[in-house]
Amino acid sequence: MLLRINHPEIPLKRYTTLLPSQLMDNLHSLAEQFQGLRFVHANSTATGGGVAEILQSLVPFMNTLGLPTERIVVSPEDPQFFQVTKRIHNLLQGSSGSLSRDELEVYFQCMERVAEDIKGRGLEASVWFFHDPQLLPLAMLLPKKKDELRFWVCHIDLTAPNAETLDVLTPLTSYYDGLAFSMNEFVPDGVLGHYPVYITPPSIDPLTDKNTAMSRNEALEIVAAMGVDPDRPLVAQVSRFDYWKDPWGVIDAYRQAKESVPELQLALLGLSQAADDPEALGVLHSVTDYADGDPDVHAYFYPEGLPASIDRIVNAFQTASLVVLQKSTREGFGLTVTEAMWKGQPVIGGNVGGIRMQIEDGSSGFLVNNVSECGERIVQLIQDEDLRLKMGKAARERVRQKFLLPRLALDYLNAVRLTLPRSTPDSPFSVNGKGNPFDSLEQLYPNGTVSSGKW
Ligand code: UDP
Repeated sequence: MLLRINHPEIPLKRYTTLLPSQLMDNLHSLAEQFQGLRFVHANSTATGGGVAEILQSLVPFMNTLGLPTERIVVSPEDPQFFQVTKRIHNLLQGSSGSLSRDELEVYFQCMERVAEDIKGRGLEASVWFFHDPQLLPLAMLLPKKKDELRFWVCHIDLTAPNAETLDVLTPLTSYYDGLAFSMNEFVPDGVLGHYPVYITPPSIDPLTDKNTAMSRNEALEIVAAMGVDPDRPLVAQVSRFDYWKDPWGVIDAYRQAKESVPELQLALLGLSQAADDPEALGVLHSVTDYADGDPDVHAYFYPEGLPASIDRIVNAFQTASLVVLQKSTREGFGLTVTEAMWKGQPVIGGNVGGIRMQIEDGSSGFLVNNVSECGERIVQLIQDEDLRLKMGKAARERVRQKFLLPRLALDYLNAVRLTLPRSTPDSPFSVNGKGNPFDSLEQLYPNGTVSSGKW
Protein backbone atom coordinates (compact mmCIF):
# COMPACT_ATOMS: atom_id res chain seq x y z
CA MET A 1 0.00 0.00 0.00
CA LEU A 2 2.92 2.32 0.74
CA LEU A 3 5.87 2.34 -1.58
CA ARG A 4 9.09 4.20 -0.83
CA ILE A 5 10.94 5.20 -3.97
CA ASN A 6 14.68 5.72 -4.10
CA HIS A 7 16.14 8.09 -6.63
CA PRO A 8 19.71 8.59 -7.80
CA GLU A 9 21.75 11.77 -7.29
CA ILE A 10 21.69 14.22 -10.17
CA PRO A 11 24.22 16.71 -11.54
CA LEU A 12 23.02 20.07 -10.22
CA LYS A 13 25.61 22.04 -12.16
CA ARG A 14 24.03 21.08 -15.45
CA TYR A 15 20.92 23.08 -14.56
CA THR A 16 22.89 26.27 -13.98
CA THR A 17 23.69 26.78 -17.64
CA LEU A 18 20.03 26.50 -18.60
CA LEU A 19 18.44 28.78 -16.05
CA PRO A 20 17.82 32.46 -15.48
CA SER A 21 20.72 33.66 -13.34
CA GLN A 22 20.22 33.85 -9.56
CA LEU A 23 17.76 31.00 -9.38
CA MET A 24 20.28 28.34 -8.38
CA ASP A 25 21.98 30.76 -5.96
CA ASN A 26 18.66 31.45 -4.27
CA LEU A 27 18.00 27.75 -4.05
CA HIS A 28 21.35 26.98 -2.47
CA SER A 29 20.92 29.70 0.13
CA LEU A 30 17.44 28.48 1.07
CA ALA A 31 18.72 24.91 1.22
CA GLU A 32 21.35 26.07 3.69
CA GLN A 33 18.69 27.63 5.90
CA PHE A 34 16.74 24.40 5.89
CA GLN A 35 19.55 22.09 7.04
CA GLY A 36 18.10 19.59 9.48
CA LEU A 37 14.62 19.49 7.96
CA ARG A 38 13.30 16.29 6.38
CA PHE A 39 10.79 16.41 3.54
CA VAL A 40 8.31 13.86 2.24
CA HIS A 41 6.30 14.06 -0.98
CA ALA A 42 3.36 11.67 -1.20
CA ASN A 43 1.16 10.94 -4.21
CA SER A 44 -0.96 8.07 -5.46
CA THR A 45 0.87 6.69 -8.48
CA ALA A 46 4.50 5.77 -9.10
CA THR A 47 4.40 6.40 -12.84
CA GLY A 48 2.05 7.99 -15.35
CA GLY A 49 0.54 11.45 -15.35
CA GLY A 50 1.97 14.81 -14.48
CA VAL A 51 2.42 14.52 -10.70
CA ALA A 52 4.50 11.34 -10.93
CA GLU A 53 6.52 13.03 -13.64
CA ILE A 54 7.25 16.04 -11.43
CA LEU A 55 8.13 14.06 -8.33
CA GLN A 56 10.47 11.68 -10.05
CA SER A 57 12.73 14.65 -10.80
CA LEU A 58 11.95 16.95 -7.88
CA VAL A 59 12.80 14.40 -5.18
CA PRO A 60 16.33 13.60 -6.39
CA PHE A 61 16.85 17.30 -7.06
CA MET A 62 16.01 18.19 -3.44
CA ASN A 63 18.23 15.40 -2.12
CA THR A 64 21.13 16.54 -4.24
CA LEU A 65 20.61 20.07 -2.91
CA GLY A 66 21.31 18.58 0.51
CA LEU A 67 17.71 18.40 1.74
CA PRO A 68 16.76 14.84 2.73
CA THR A 69 13.56 14.19 0.79
CA GLU A 70 11.61 11.01 0.50
CA ARG A 71 8.87 10.04 -1.88
CA ILE A 72 6.08 7.72 -0.92
CA VAL A 73 3.41 6.36 -3.20
CA VAL A 74 0.11 5.68 -1.53
CA SER A 75 -1.79 3.14 -3.48
CA PRO A 76 -4.71 1.55 -1.62
CA GLU A 77 -5.36 -2.08 -2.52
CA ASP A 78 -9.12 -1.60 -2.84
CA PRO A 79 -9.70 -1.26 -6.63
CA GLN A 80 -12.73 0.91 -5.92
CA PHE A 81 -10.49 3.62 -4.48
CA PHE A 82 -9.26 4.82 -7.86
CA GLN A 83 -12.78 4.61 -9.34
CA VAL A 84 -13.92 6.96 -6.61
CA THR A 85 -10.95 9.30 -6.82
CA LYS A 86 -11.30 9.53 -10.59
CA ARG A 87 -14.92 10.56 -9.98
CA ILE A 88 -13.72 13.15 -7.49
CA HIS A 89 -11.20 14.41 -10.05
CA ASN A 90 -13.91 14.69 -12.71
CA LEU A 91 -16.37 16.39 -10.36
CA LEU A 92 -13.76 18.90 -9.24
CA GLN A 93 -13.03 19.66 -12.88
CA GLY A 94 -16.72 20.38 -13.42
CA SER A 95 -18.66 17.16 -14.14
CA SER A 96 -22.23 17.07 -12.98
CA GLY A 97 -23.42 14.65 -10.30
CA SER A 98 -22.52 14.09 -6.72
CA LEU A 99 -20.60 11.64 -4.58
CA SER A 100 -22.69 8.91 -3.03
CA ARG A 101 -22.42 7.92 0.62
CA ASP A 102 -20.82 4.61 -0.48
CA GLU A 103 -18.20 6.39 -2.54
CA LEU A 104 -17.29 8.67 0.34
CA GLU A 105 -17.03 5.65 2.58
CA VAL A 106 -14.57 3.93 0.22
CA TYR A 107 -12.53 7.14 0.01
CA PHE A 108 -12.28 7.69 3.76
CA GLN A 109 -11.84 4.03 4.69
CA CYS A 110 -8.96 3.63 2.26
CA MET A 111 -7.33 6.79 3.56
CA GLU A 112 -7.79 5.61 7.16
CA ARG A 113 -5.90 2.43 6.32
CA VAL A 114 -3.16 4.45 4.67
CA ALA A 115 -2.91 6.72 7.72
CA GLU A 116 -2.59 3.65 9.95
CA ASP A 117 0.13 2.33 7.70
CA ILE A 118 2.05 5.61 7.84
CA LYS A 119 1.77 5.65 11.63
CA GLY A 120 2.68 1.94 11.90
CA ARG A 121 5.86 2.45 9.92
CA GLY A 122 6.85 5.43 11.98
CA LEU A 123 7.25 7.63 8.91
CA GLU A 124 8.22 11.10 10.03
CA ALA A 125 9.00 14.37 8.33
CA SER A 126 9.42 18.04 9.14
CA VAL A 127 7.52 18.97 5.99
CA TRP A 128 4.92 16.87 4.19
CA PHE A 129 3.57 17.57 0.73
CA PHE A 130 0.43 15.60 -0.04
CA HIS A 131 -0.42 15.82 -3.73
CA ASP A 132 -3.90 15.95 -5.24
CA PRO A 133 -7.40 15.07 -4.00
CA GLN A 134 -6.59 11.36 -3.63
CA LEU A 135 -4.62 12.11 -0.46
CA LEU A 136 -6.52 15.14 0.81
CA PRO A 137 -7.99 13.45 3.94
CA LEU A 138 -4.56 12.44 5.26
CA ALA A 139 -3.84 15.60 7.27
CA MET A 140 -7.10 15.07 9.17
CA LEU A 141 -6.28 11.41 9.79
CA LEU A 142 -2.67 11.79 10.88
CA PRO A 143 -2.13 13.39 14.27
CA LYS A 144 -0.12 16.57 13.86
CA LYS A 145 3.28 16.55 15.48
CA LYS A 146 4.95 19.56 16.98
CA ASP A 147 7.02 21.55 14.46
CA GLU A 148 5.64 19.58 11.55
CA LEU A 149 4.28 21.33 8.46
CA ARG A 150 1.75 19.78 6.12
CA PHE A 151 0.93 21.14 2.66
CA TRP A 152 -1.74 20.05 0.26
CA VAL A 153 -0.79 20.56 -3.37
CA CYS A 154 -3.68 20.55 -5.80
CA HIS A 155 -2.75 20.04 -9.45
CA ILE A 156 -6.17 19.96 -11.05
CA ASP A 157 -8.19 22.55 -12.91
CA LEU A 158 -10.64 24.08 -10.44
CA THR A 159 -11.92 26.82 -12.76
CA ALA A 160 -15.52 25.61 -12.60
CA PRO A 161 -15.76 22.87 -10.00
CA ASN A 162 -18.88 20.96 -9.09
CA ALA A 163 -20.03 23.07 -6.14
CA GLU A 164 -21.47 20.24 -4.08
CA THR A 165 -18.26 18.18 -4.27
CA LEU A 166 -16.14 21.21 -3.47
CA ASP A 167 -18.29 21.86 -0.39
CA VAL A 168 -17.81 18.29 0.78
CA LEU A 169 -14.03 18.37 0.37
CA THR A 170 -13.09 21.92 1.33
CA PRO A 171 -13.27 21.34 5.12
CA LEU A 172 -10.48 18.77 4.72
CA THR A 173 -8.10 21.54 3.70
CA SER A 174 -8.35 23.11 7.15
CA TYR A 175 -6.03 20.45 8.60
CA TYR A 176 -3.15 21.74 6.48
CA ASP A 177 -0.68 24.50 7.27
CA GLY A 178 -0.55 25.69 3.69
CA LEU A 179 -2.16 25.00 0.33
CA ALA A 180 -0.68 25.18 -3.15
CA PHE A 181 -2.49 25.52 -6.46
CA SER A 182 -1.15 25.76 -10.00
CA MET A 183 -2.97 29.02 -10.82
CA ASN A 184 -4.54 31.84 -8.92
CA GLU A 185 -7.77 31.24 -10.85
CA PHE A 186 -8.06 27.77 -9.31
CA VAL A 187 -8.08 28.86 -5.67
CA PRO A 188 -11.57 28.20 -4.25
CA ASP A 189 -13.09 31.12 -2.37
CA GLY A 190 -13.74 28.85 0.60
CA VAL A 191 -10.04 28.40 1.39
CA LEU A 192 -9.01 32.04 1.21
CA GLY A 193 -8.03 33.89 4.31
CA HIS A 194 -7.74 30.81 6.54
CA TYR A 195 -4.19 29.67 5.80
CA PRO A 196 -1.42 30.61 3.42
CA VAL A 197 -2.15 29.81 -0.20
CA TYR A 198 0.69 29.56 -2.71
CA ILE A 199 0.67 29.51 -6.48
CA THR A 200 3.19 26.91 -7.59
CA PRO A 201 2.83 26.06 -11.28
CA PRO A 202 4.44 22.75 -12.26
CA SER A 203 7.64 22.50 -14.23
CA ILE A 204 9.61 20.04 -16.32
CA ASP A 205 13.04 18.58 -15.83
CA PRO A 206 15.17 19.59 -18.83
CA LEU A 207 17.70 16.82 -18.14
CA THR A 208 15.53 13.72 -18.48
CA ASP A 209 15.47 11.40 -21.48
CA LYS A 210 12.10 12.87 -22.26
CA ASN A 211 13.32 16.43 -22.44
CA THR A 212 16.92 16.41 -23.65
CA ALA A 213 17.38 17.34 -27.27
CA MET A 214 16.79 14.52 -29.74
CA SER A 215 17.89 14.85 -33.34
CA ARG A 216 15.13 15.01 -35.89
CA ASN A 217 16.57 11.95 -37.59
CA GLU A 218 16.42 9.85 -34.44
CA ALA A 219 12.90 11.10 -33.74
CA LEU A 220 11.79 10.17 -37.25
CA GLU A 221 13.33 6.71 -36.90
CA ILE A 222 11.40 6.10 -33.69
CA VAL A 223 8.05 7.32 -35.01
CA ALA A 224 8.63 5.25 -38.17
CA ALA A 225 9.18 2.19 -35.98
CA MET A 226 5.81 3.03 -34.42
CA GLY A 227 4.10 2.91 -37.83
CA VAL A 228 4.11 6.60 -38.82
CA ASP A 229 5.31 7.59 -42.30
CA PRO A 230 8.37 9.79 -41.58
CA ASP A 231 8.11 11.52 -44.97
CA ARG A 232 4.63 12.93 -44.40
CA PRO A 233 3.51 15.71 -42.05
CA LEU A 234 2.57 14.66 -38.54
CA VAL A 235 0.63 16.33 -35.74
CA ALA A 236 0.47 14.73 -32.31
CA GLN A 237 -1.25 14.97 -28.99
CA VAL A 238 0.64 13.26 -26.16
CA SER A 239 -1.88 12.61 -23.39
CA ARG A 240 -3.60 10.03 -21.29
CA PHE A 241 -6.85 8.87 -22.94
CA ASP A 242 -9.05 11.09 -20.86
CA TYR A 243 -12.33 12.86 -21.41
CA TRP A 244 -10.89 16.31 -20.54
CA LYS A 245 -8.06 15.99 -23.09
CA ASP A 246 -10.72 15.93 -25.83
CA PRO A 247 -9.18 13.33 -28.18
CA TRP A 248 -12.40 13.37 -30.24
CA GLY A 249 -11.98 17.10 -30.85
CA VAL A 250 -8.38 16.44 -31.88
CA ILE A 251 -9.59 13.97 -34.51
CA ASP A 252 -12.16 16.49 -35.78
CA ALA A 253 -9.50 19.21 -36.04
CA TYR A 254 -7.15 16.82 -37.86
CA ARG A 255 -9.95 15.92 -40.30
CA GLN A 256 -10.60 19.57 -41.00
CA ALA A 257 -6.88 20.25 -41.53
CA LYS A 258 -6.51 17.20 -43.77
CA GLU A 259 -8.82 18.84 -46.29
CA SER A 260 -6.02 21.37 -46.90
CA VAL A 261 -3.09 19.05 -46.14
CA PRO A 262 -4.13 15.65 -47.53
CA GLU A 263 -0.89 13.96 -46.49
CA LEU A 264 -1.44 14.78 -42.82
CA GLN A 265 -1.12 12.10 -40.13
CA LEU A 266 -2.25 12.25 -36.51
CA ALA A 267 -0.72 10.50 -33.50
CA LEU A 268 -2.50 10.18 -30.16
CA LEU A 269 0.07 8.95 -27.69
CA GLY A 270 -1.41 7.82 -24.41
CA LEU A 271 0.74 4.91 -23.33
CA SER A 272 -0.95 3.47 -20.31
CA GLN A 273 1.00 3.96 -17.10
CA ALA A 274 -1.23 5.60 -14.54
CA ALA A 275 -2.61 3.07 -12.09
CA ASP A 276 -5.02 5.72 -10.83
CA ASP A 277 -6.78 6.18 -14.18
CA PRO A 278 -9.42 3.46 -14.54
CA GLU A 279 -11.29 5.22 -17.39
CA ALA A 280 -8.50 5.32 -19.97
CA LEU A 281 -9.32 2.04 -21.73
CA GLY A 282 -12.95 3.07 -22.25
CA VAL A 283 -11.87 6.41 -23.73
CA LEU A 284 -9.37 4.61 -26.01
CA HIS A 285 -12.13 2.36 -27.39
CA SER A 286 -14.40 5.30 -28.00
CA VAL A 287 -11.60 7.20 -29.75
CA THR A 288 -10.59 4.32 -32.01
CA ASP A 289 -14.26 3.86 -32.98
CA TYR A 290 -14.42 7.58 -33.69
CA ALA A 291 -11.31 7.37 -35.91
CA ASP A 292 -13.33 4.92 -37.98
CA GLY A 293 -10.42 2.93 -39.41
CA ASP A 294 -8.54 5.97 -40.79
CA PRO A 295 -5.04 4.53 -41.43
CA ASP A 296 -3.48 7.95 -40.79
CA VAL A 297 -4.78 8.16 -37.23
CA HIS A 298 -2.39 6.34 -34.89
CA ALA A 299 -3.53 5.76 -31.31
CA TYR A 300 -1.05 4.23 -28.88
CA PHE A 301 -2.09 2.83 -25.54
CA TYR A 302 -0.45 -0.53 -24.81
CA PRO A 303 3.10 -0.19 -23.48
CA GLU A 304 4.32 -3.64 -24.62
CA GLY A 305 6.78 -4.24 -27.48
CA LEU A 306 7.83 -0.62 -27.94
CA PRO A 307 10.95 0.28 -29.98
CA ALA A 308 12.35 2.57 -27.24
CA SER A 309 11.64 3.67 -23.67
CA ILE A 310 8.40 5.57 -23.12
CA ASP A 311 10.36 8.75 -22.38
CA ARG A 312 12.24 8.50 -25.68
CA ILE A 313 9.03 7.77 -27.54
CA VAL A 314 7.32 10.82 -26.05
CA ASN A 315 10.39 12.87 -26.94
CA ALA A 316 10.33 11.47 -30.49
CA PHE A 317 6.68 12.35 -31.11
CA GLN A 318 7.12 15.82 -29.63
CA THR A 319 10.22 16.34 -31.80
CA ALA A 320 9.05 14.75 -35.06
CA SER A 321 5.65 16.44 -35.21
CA LEU A 322 5.34 19.65 -37.17
CA VAL A 323 2.82 20.90 -34.64
CA VAL A 324 1.93 19.59 -31.20
CA LEU A 325 -1.63 19.74 -29.92
CA GLN A 326 -3.12 19.82 -26.45
CA LYS A 327 -6.75 20.44 -27.11
CA SER A 328 -7.94 20.01 -23.53
CA THR A 329 -11.24 21.37 -22.28
CA ARG A 330 -9.88 21.48 -18.70
CA GLU A 331 -6.21 21.35 -17.78
CA GLY A 332 -4.56 21.70 -14.38
CA PHE A 333 -1.32 22.63 -16.10
CA GLY A 334 -0.40 20.33 -18.98
CA LEU A 335 3.22 19.23 -18.74
CA THR A 336 2.91 17.93 -22.27
CA VAL A 337 2.57 21.54 -23.41
CA THR A 338 5.74 22.54 -21.53
CA GLU A 339 7.64 19.52 -22.84
CA ALA A 340 6.81 20.31 -26.45
CA MET A 341 7.49 24.04 -26.04
CA TRP A 342 10.88 23.20 -24.53
CA LYS A 343 11.66 21.30 -27.73
CA GLY A 344 11.02 24.46 -29.69
CA GLN A 345 7.65 23.32 -30.95
CA PRO A 346 4.70 25.59 -31.52
CA VAL A 347 1.83 24.14 -29.49
CA ILE A 348 -1.85 24.61 -30.24
CA GLY A 349 -3.59 24.34 -26.91
CA GLY A 350 -7.14 24.58 -25.64
CA ASN A 351 -7.79 28.03 -24.18
CA VAL A 352 -8.23 26.65 -20.66
CA GLY A 353 -6.57 26.34 -17.25
CA GLY A 354 -2.83 25.90 -17.09
CA ILE A 355 -2.43 25.97 -20.87
CA ARG A 356 -3.35 29.67 -20.81
CA MET A 357 -0.59 30.22 -18.29
CA GLN A 358 2.02 28.71 -20.60
CA ILE A 359 1.15 29.74 -24.14
CA GLU A 360 1.02 33.43 -24.97
CA ASP A 361 -1.48 33.32 -27.79
CA GLY A 362 0.04 34.26 -31.12
CA SER A 363 3.63 34.51 -29.91
CA SER A 364 4.70 31.31 -28.13
CA GLY A 365 1.90 29.16 -29.56
CA PHE A 366 -1.82 29.37 -30.22
CA LEU A 367 -4.79 29.11 -27.87
CA VAL A 368 -7.96 27.78 -29.46
CA ASN A 369 -11.57 27.75 -28.35
CA ASN A 370 -13.02 25.11 -30.64
CA VAL A 371 -12.33 22.47 -33.27
CA SER A 372 -12.55 24.84 -36.18
CA GLU A 373 -9.94 27.25 -34.73
CA CYS A 374 -7.72 24.28 -33.97
CA GLY A 375 -8.00 22.94 -37.53
CA GLU A 376 -7.23 26.39 -38.99
CA ARG A 377 -4.15 26.85 -36.80
CA ILE A 378 -2.82 23.41 -37.76
CA VAL A 379 -3.00 24.34 -41.43
CA GLN A 380 -1.51 27.79 -40.84
CA LEU A 381 1.47 26.41 -38.95
CA ILE A 382 2.11 23.54 -41.34
CA GLN A 383 2.12 25.93 -44.28
CA ASP A 384 4.28 28.60 -42.67
CA GLU A 385 7.70 27.31 -41.68
CA ASP A 386 8.97 30.74 -40.60
CA LEU A 387 6.10 31.13 -38.18
CA ARG A 388 6.74 27.65 -36.80
CA LEU A 389 10.37 28.45 -36.16
CA LYS A 390 9.66 31.86 -34.65
CA MET A 391 6.98 30.56 -32.32
CA GLY A 392 9.06 27.53 -31.39
CA LYS A 393 11.93 29.77 -30.36
CA ALA A 394 9.65 31.94 -28.22
CA ALA A 395 8.10 28.82 -26.71
CA ARG A 396 11.46 27.43 -25.62
CA GLU A 397 12.48 30.73 -24.06
CA ARG A 398 9.19 30.98 -22.17
CA VAL A 399 9.79 27.55 -20.62
CA ARG A 400 13.39 28.44 -19.80
CA GLN A 401 12.25 31.55 -17.95
CA LYS A 402 9.26 30.12 -16.11
CA PHE A 403 8.77 26.40 -16.16
CA LEU A 404 11.96 24.48 -15.38
CA LEU A 405 12.35 22.26 -12.34
CA PRO A 406 14.55 24.46 -10.11
CA ARG A 407 11.89 27.18 -10.10
CA LEU A 408 9.34 24.76 -8.71
CA ALA A 409 11.79 23.56 -6.05
CA LEU A 410 12.33 27.20 -5.09
CA ASP A 411 8.58 27.81 -4.93
CA TYR A 412 8.05 24.88 -2.58
CA LEU A 413 10.93 25.94 -0.35
CA ASN A 414 9.65 29.49 -0.25
CA ALA A 415 6.22 28.19 0.70
CA VAL A 416 7.87 26.36 3.58
CA ARG A 417 9.79 29.45 4.60
CA LEU A 418 6.71 31.63 4.56
CA THR A 419 4.61 29.13 6.46
CA LEU A 420 7.07 28.35 9.24
CA PRO A 421 6.35 30.25 12.45
CA ARG A 422 7.50 33.80 11.97
CA SER A 423 7.01 35.11 15.47
CA THR A 424 10.66 35.05 16.57
CA PRO A 425 12.43 37.87 14.80
CA ASP A 426 15.78 36.11 14.82
CA SER A 427 14.41 32.85 13.48
CA PRO A 428 16.31 31.88 10.33
CA PHE A 429 12.92 31.49 8.73
CA SER A 430 11.48 34.84 9.67
CA VAL A 431 10.35 36.82 6.70
CA ASN A 432 11.80 40.23 6.55
CA GLY A 433 8.70 42.37 6.99
CA LYS A 434 9.28 44.63 4.02
CA GLY A 435 11.55 42.30 2.12
CA ASN A 436 10.56 40.27 -0.80
CA PRO A 437 9.86 36.72 0.33
CA PHE A 438 10.29 35.30 -3.12
CA ASP A 439 13.67 36.81 -3.77
CA SER A 440 12.58 39.45 -6.20
CA LEU A 441 10.10 37.22 -7.94
CA GLU A 442 7.17 37.79 -5.64
CA GLN A 443 3.69 38.56 -6.73
CA LEU A 444 0.92 39.00 -4.23
CA TYR A 445 -2.47 38.58 -5.84
CA PRO A 446 -5.28 40.77 -4.57
CA ASN A 447 -6.91 37.74 -2.93
CA GLY A 448 -3.80 37.26 -0.76
CA THR A 449 -2.31 34.24 -2.48
CA VAL A 450 1.45 34.32 -3.01
CA SER A 451 3.27 33.43 -6.16
CA SER A 452 6.83 33.51 -7.34
CA GLY A 453 6.04 35.26 -10.57
CA LYS A 454 3.67 36.80 -13.03
CA TRP A 455 2.31 34.10 -15.22
N1 UDP B 1 3.05 10.88 -20.85
C1 UDP B 1 3.86 9.80 -21.07
N2 UDP B 1 3.50 8.89 -22.01
C2 UDP B 1 2.39 9.03 -22.74
C3 UDP B 1 1.55 10.14 -22.52
C4 UDP B 1 1.91 11.06 -21.54
O1 UDP B 1 4.92 9.65 -20.44
O2 UDP B 1 2.13 8.18 -23.60
C5 UDP B 1 3.49 11.89 -19.86
C6 UDP B 1 3.71 13.24 -20.49
O3 UDP B 1 4.94 13.27 -21.19
C7 UDP B 1 3.65 14.16 -19.27
C8 UDP B 1 2.64 13.43 -18.38
O4 UDP B 1 2.53 12.10 -18.87
O5 UDP B 1 4.91 14.22 -18.64
C9 UDP B 1 1.27 14.08 -18.45
O6 UDP B 1 1.25 15.22 -17.69
P1 UDP B 1 0.19 16.36 -17.94
O7 UDP B 1 0.43 17.40 -16.91
O8 UDP B 1 0.27 16.82 -19.36
O9 UDP B 1 -1.22 15.69 -17.79
P2 UDP B 1 -1.90 14.73 -16.68
O10 UDP B 1 -1.77 13.34 -17.20
O11 UDP B 1 -1.20 14.95 -15.38
O12 UDP B 1 -3.33 15.18 -16.69
